[in-house]
Amino acid sequence: MTRALALFSGGLDSLLACRVIAAQGISVQAVKFVTPFFGYELLAKEQEYARMVRERYGIEVVLRDVSEAFFTMLRNPAHGYGKNFNPCVDCKILLLKEAKRLLPEFSASFLITGEVLGQRPMSQRRDTLRVIERDSGCTGILLRPLCAKTQEPTLAEREGLVDRERLLAFNGRGRQPQIQLAKSFGITDYPPPAGGCVLTEREQAKRIAWYYARYPKVRLNDIRRLLFGRHFQLPHGGWLVLGRDEAENARLEALHDPADFLVYMPEWFGPMGVLHAAGHADDFAAAAGLVVRFGKKMTGASARAEVLFTSGEEERRLLAEPLADEIFQGWSLAHASEGPASETTVGRPE
Ligand code: SF4
Repeated sequence: MTRALALFSGGLDSLLACRVIAAQGISVQAVKFVTPFFGYELLAKEQEYARMVRERYGIEVVLRDVSEAFFTMLRNPAHGYGKNFNPCVDCKILLLKEAKRLLPEFSASFLITGEVLGQRPMSQRRDTLRVIERDSGCTGILLRPLCAKTQEPTLAEREGLVDRERLLAFNGRGRQPQIQLAKSFGITDYPPPAGGCVLTEREQAKRIAWYYARYPKVRLNDIRRLLFGRHFQLPHGGWLVLGRDEAENARLEALHDPADFLVYMPEWFGPMGVLHAAGHADDFAAAAGLVVRFGKKMTGASARAEVLFTSGEEERRLLAEPLADEIFQGWSLAHASEGPASETTVGRPE
């Protein structure tokens, strides 16, 4: 039986591409690539996600983590970045290369994507679609069912595995043809067309670009930490991340690397912190002052608290007062979605 391997984003276009091909009696296996920038949370619930996609859309999907390859590509994408830190053309090239490698594993003979000519300014222009095919080594084996009739016939069409007449010629940014097609498949509950990739979100992208400019080696947990919390670049090279609520505190604790310090007040309520690349005593003092500043307010003459730094066997304790806002304002990295700085009233002591 002919089988196609689909690059599946979870958006409407990719699921329509799967259904258009499956409607020809071709077996379709979808693969959803994930990195901390998109889809990573699904790794913890892959079976549940696959079941949802099967039951809701009739598509078989597996996840594949391509974080390491993506991190390397993101440092220097050959085709540059989009409006933010999004390397969309190189991202597609990378994902197609990965998908091509998976063809034998799934006994698939060609690839499909939900790309539509002219839908996205950067990555779906006609010349860009060709570049993506060429640079991923997928010329001839990449079929885009939603706009196939605007493209040269692929191998699968030429060999008669796919009936070109039953493919589509969608073109441009309008969504109506997709919505109509979805209706014809009985699909009504689908996710919005864009979204899901933090590299296109201005504030998140700024943080990630900051990280890339500063650290030559990209660490998975650093990237995951960049996507939440309060971030401070300390004056002597330290990088402090503070949780903004109990859930973030727990995530920081789970994500910290042995080389980093966990920072918190053992005897008072406040944020969990992770301090990275701290070598200077002033950075420890600053981090302690920030942890107290974002902790629950203390009443009384002395607003001091003990702050504990732990890293493996190493332990330090500092007595600190809240750091004045005017001191640390310039240290703050762009925050994703938060309002003005406030205290964090949940967290330790345990
Ligand atoms: S928005 Fe993100 S996931 Fe989508 S193509 Fe661009 S970089 Fe890749």
